[in-house]
Amino acid sequence: MMVAISRGLLEQIVALGVAREAEEVCGLLLGQAGTIEAILPAANVAPDPARHFELDPAALIAAHRAARSGGPQVIGHYHSHPSGVAIPSRTDAACASPDDSLWLIVGGGEARLWRAGPDTVVNVIFSEVSLDIR
Ligand SMILES: [Zn+2]
Repeated sequence: MMVAISRGLLEQIVALGVAREAEEVCGLLLGQAGTIEAILPAANVAPDPARHFELDPAALIAAHRAARSGGPQVIGHYHSHPSGVAIPSRTDAACASPDDSLWLIVGGGEARLWRAGPDTVVNVIFSEVSLDIR
């Protein structure tokens, strides 16, 4: 299982994460199954944005509404770990739903892609997805 993304888009997401050292940045991944075609940066409305992220619900609702009326599909989201690595944290696992959505995480100057799938023991398990950088 691979997911395609353009090099320019990937560099843009990494740059967004690196630019904000003091807080996590986040946004939506738009496209179709197997391809990330665009991103939609969203405000991080978490009370403690240095350590957590919470996508602005208004941005989420607007994106889903646009998708229903023929726009690009919401296939996941991205967020950064300003002082961490690009691996899902314990908090991420606690907040994730086992909905097979994509999680692109920026940390340590790189981006890695994960899929949040169902697991019988721990509810959600993250599996790494290879990025097909074009
Ligand atoms: Zn995280």
